Amino acid sequence: MLMTRERRPAVRTLRGWALSVLQEVGAIHECEEHGWAKDRADPHALARAIEFARQDPPAGVSPDEATAEIRDVLDSIGDTCPECRDGDC
Ligand SMILES: [Zn+2]
Repeated sequence: MLMTRERRPAVRTLRGWALSVLQEVGAIHECEEHGWAKDRADPHALARAIEFARQDPPAGVSPDEATAEIRDVLDSIGDTCPECRDGDC
């Protein structure tokens, strides 16, 4: 869960950026009922996200850092919504 308070504020921004990239390429999507991000386990979408991060990282962030954050964020996201008991949302 997102409970690490030791991370610098800049990382929170980078995390938000990574989330938006993953969403844009379709690697993750939000549960319509609860808003939790869910991993769609789509390797092609992940490849697009990595490619995007490498070519167009946020200002002040290296391509390596950007791609690492993409993977880190995706690792932290489950493939089901924690609030949808049936997992079919
Ligand atoms: Zn849900």
